Amino acid sequence: MDLARRGILIILSSPSGAGKSTLSKRVLEDDDQVVFSVSATTRSPRPGEENGREYFFKSREEFEDLVNSGGMLEHAEVFGNFYGTPLAPVEDAIASGQDVLFDVDWQGGQQIRNSPLSEAVVSVFVLPPSIAELEARLQKRGQDSAEVVAGRMAQSSNEISHWAEYDYVLVNDDVDRAEEDLRAIVQAERLKRARVTGLTGFVSGLKAEYEAMQ
Ligand code: ADP
Ligand code: 5GP
Repeated sequence: MDLARRGILIILSSPSGAGKSTLSKRVLEDDDQVVFSVSATTRSPRPGEENGREYFFKSREEFEDLVNSGGMLEHAEVFGNFYGTPLAPVEDAIASGQDVLFDVDWQGGQQIRNSPLSEAVVSVFVLPPSIAELEARLQKRGQDSAEVVAGRMAQSSNEISHWAEYDYVLVNDDVDRAEEDLRAIVQAERLKRARVTGLTGFVSGLKAEYEAMQ
């Protein structure tokens, strides 16, 4: 029997290249209870990225207008570009009982954890198995110039320094294993007593059954 539950907000952070996008795509592919929070960014699209799917690609002015009108749940400057989470889709998802998955840096993680939505937050930090492997993955992705890869490597130590602010930490060595662990986290967090609604009524029904048996 399934009881109703409140939605959760799953924050995934990691140094660039550790595998957040890979893990989030895998979870989203066959879990229709989770929707991806499509961020707005001022960075240029990578080959294959689509406006509205990976990101909403914005000019600096458009981005600032969104921030100034209160339309962002959080926003931050990362690697010289602006990134932010539009608030309305998150509110809509919560209202319809969906979970939301966020791919944001540590600054975004902190702001969402400190927002009025904090009760729903489950945060997961993804570590690479080694720094050499992180660099190899950034290069293998083959979508950024050598200069961009070097910039991301230079920032990785700072991002990693925030690991202990997260509820869970996964080392993404074997991707299948990391995916399985992430799904286990999501499932357990959904089942937390405080997130399951209607339990009091359900237990009252059990009590009524005892009484009827006497
Ligand atoms: P992020 O979103 O954290 O920047 P990506 O998910 O884009 O990272 O992963 C960076 C690169 O590493 C991609 O080419 C991806 O296919 C690869 N990758 C992800 N996880 C693993 C893994 N466990 N083992 C080997 N390669 C991986
Ligand atoms: P990329 O350019 O590789 O897609 O993302 C660069 C970094 O920006 C990653 O660490 C990613 O998690 C972060 N990022 C993406 N969207 C957001 C967002 O909406 N807010 C914040 N704070 N960071 C974001």
